[in-house]
Amino acid sequence: MNFYDQLMNGYNDEWTHSGVNGERLAHRLAELAKTGWTEEGGCLRIAFSQEELAAKKLVMQWMEEEGLEVEMDGAGNVFGRLEGQEDLPVVLSGSHVDSVPHGGHFDGPLGVLSALEVVSAWREQGYQPKRPFEIVIFSDEEGARFNGGLTGSQAFVGEIDSEKERKRVDYEGRSYEEVLKGVGLTPESVASAKRDLDQVHAFIEVHIEQGKRLEKAGLPAGVVTGIAGPTWLKVVFTGAAGHAGNTPMNDRQDALVAASDFIQKVKDFPPQVSDSGVATVGKLEVKPNGVNVIPGEVELTVDIRDIKKNGKMPLSVQSKSVLKLLQASTILKWILMN
Ligand SMILES: [Zn+2]
Repeated sequence: MNFYDQLMNGYNDEWTHSGVNGERLAHRLAELAKTGWTEEGGCLRIAFSQEELAAKKLVMQWMEEEGLEVEMDGAGNVFGRLEGQEDLPVVLSGSHVDSVPHGGHFDGPLGVLSALEVVSAWREQGYQPKRPFEIVIFSDEEGARFNGGLTGSQAFVGEIDSEKERKRVDYEGRSYEEVLKGVGLTPESVASAKRDLDQVHAFIEVHIEQGKRLEKAGLPAGVVTGIAGPTWLKVVFTGAAGHAGNTPMNDRQDALVAASDFIQKVKDFPPQVSDSGVATVGKLEVKPNGVNVIPGEVELTVDIRDIKKNGKMPLSVQSKSVLKLLQASTILKWILMN
């Protein structure tokens, strides 16, 4: 069964109402999914690739068909604007069309295409909103190319650090400048994409659930109450490698045994500070990694995130860098004290 048929399987025509048309949305999702479709049925549209660009161009074509004023800024962000009845600050809605390797088909496109579906519904019903409405596709949300992310939205709010970006090298060893050139952009054009935030009234994003809470509860949608600020830590345990047969138990410096103590503590950490915090050790590198060798060194990563700061205050996106320091120091402090 193709993707469109899969989407429409079990669709009820009664769900199409007020101009919002499930069939049209499914058709657009399926068409968009053809760009970067992998052999395994996943999605491969890395930021600043020809696939991401092709997906943007397809959406731009649909935006034009809906009579929107369409524009791509210097960061490759795409905007489709519908004028409002009054000249007021704009309501933005959208998401991204880049993906991680083996990504899903809803992560990003759903937010872009549901905003477009709203415009299609309004047009069918002859409705013009009070405020201007813009559909947006932000470039490089996922960060799979440079291990960063949010390039387009950072440029939009004027927080791009060009000097830092210029030093980036992608997974193929290509420089930031070279990668941008491939899709007709430059570091200067990215930095020029800043918009006047006083002219933005609100931003709304529809996104596929990335946990399973709504799915398990059988709920079709939920409203987020905060944005999680992620922090990554890299921790190295240094012991002494030795022969597993010849080294007595009381004369060992086993780095993996120490690391496993640490991992147990990481698991116990989030509930100490917040009921919504989570922490994960997801990557472990054991050296020399032999069946009969005592581990001499272990390198591991900790991913820690929360929607609240110190378990209390809701987060704003801007406070992310401060939060990184806070979270990193809080976890280290807690671990050192325990
Ligand atoms: Zn996403």
